[in-house]
Amino acid sequence: MLAEIKGLNEECGVFAIWGHEKAAEMTYYGLHALQHRGQEGAGIVTTDGEKLNVHKGVGLINDVFSEGEVSRLQGHAAIGHVRYATQGGGGFENVQPLVFRSQTNSMALAHNGNLVNAHALKNQLEAQGSILQTTSDTEVIAHLVKRSGNVPMEEAISSALGMIKGAYAFSILTEDQLFIGLDPRGLRPLSIGRLGDAYVVASETCAFDLIGATYEREVKPGELIVIDDDGFRTKQFTSPMQRTLCSMEYVYFSRPDSDLNEKNVHASRKTMGKQLAKEAPIEADVVTGVPDSSISAAIGFSEATGIPYELGLIKNRYVGRTFIQPSQELREQGVKMKLSSVRGIVEGKRVVMVDDSIVRGTTSRRIVRLLKEAGATEVHVRIASPPIQNPCYYGIDTSTKGELIAANNTIEEMREIIGADSLFFLSTEGLEVSIVEDRDRMQHGVCQACFTGNYPTEIYPDTVIPAYKD
Ligand code: SF4
Repeated sequence: MLAEIKGLNEECGVFAIWGHEKAAEMTYYGLHALQHRGQEGAGIVTTDGEKLNVHKGVGLINDVFSEGEVSRLQGHAAIGHVRYATQGGGGFENVQPLVFRSQTNSMALAHNGNLVNAHALKNQLEAQGSILQTTSDTEVIAHLVKRSGNVPMEEAISSALGMIKGAYAFSILTEDQLFIGLDPRGLRPLSIGRLGDAYVVASETCAFDLIGATYEREVKPGELIVIDDDGFRTKQFTSPMQRTLCSMEYVYFSRPDSDLNEKNVHASRKTMGKQLAKEAPIEADVVTGVPDSSISAAIGFSEATGIPYELGLIKNRYVGRTFIQPSQELREQGVKMKLSSVRGIVEGKRVVMVDDSIVRGTTSRRIVRLLKEAGATEVHVRIASPPIQNPCYYGIDTSTKGELIAANNTIEEMREIIGADSLFFLSTEGLEVSIVEDRDRMQHGVCQACFTGNYPTEIYPDTVIPAYKD
């Protein structure tokens, strides 16, 4: 599935390392593994024990960093960030990590997620004299930390965390300490690994594989970790709550080679496909998945039904980001630039097209049309997640309710709109069992609020849904 044409986007990826002589280089490679989580900005901050060194910019990691810039970032510890830009917030000032310098100490902060009480906190901070320079929630966290006065950083951060609500996975780097934290529900993913004697932290475990680090464990909901020359310390800043990790991480966002809560993403997607086959079987000749994130579920569907899996759709690589498309005609052209149907595979066949989700429906309609134009006699659409009917307040761009096709149409109406011969979605129960096979071992549940409307945190009247670039 193609995020940029579907309107479903991750906000960010974070990476951190402590105790490695090539901290910046490791972070650079770690961010490469997380590039799918954000392509609008990237940054790395290191500490050499005396000062913070920063380089960041707008664009892909390769646009922002040259070899010289990475080697200039001296130090034994680093934090890094890749970012998806919000509406009106895509400029340089919002690229993370944000760095705050003061006479006593400096602090760099990188964060993934969205605070549900950011609006109220910003009003409160401004009323008390703070001048906010960016539109990001990250700066709110930094101001709250700074306002705690002359207390140890650990205390200042704990006190700030007591005030913020929502979804956050963050790293904070000072000249001599690294802090890692996860929200009380663990909505966003965050794992810890080791690289020799060094500690590494990343939004996804695929970043560990790329640098040769080994996975240790997940950061726990409500956990604050401190790493410095005295070693590794951890404490709970809230009493433990049941984890509600974002189920869309399994459905779509995370890379298939990542493990989330010790469950491989590709394996989870295959189970979703198998479960979908159980819930919505169909007679057909071939199964195909919409590349890339739906292929695992399509393989699962194929295995469960015995209908052969074929590459009926091919992603055109190296197309790059399409320009702003001013007309419907050019938008249609955009999909053809990114996806092709394989006539030799689908012609004269009844095709099951497995996709991971439907947001606005425009992409599904175009793909069904591509398959029919290539000669498919029937196209049966199977979606490996439930209908998205509610916006996400936790850092994922699922569009507003008015734009969500499932919030405004019945399934039969959606089938007609996308031009499919049949349309079925995975149930919420089916999604949960595909991810959480052993609830006791996993000790967590998943957030399914964009499907069910049951949000795991408070949502306030002024909670802002991040308005993303389309
Ligand atoms: S509302 Fe949906 S996208 Fe947002 S955190 Fe929950 S499951 Fe993920």
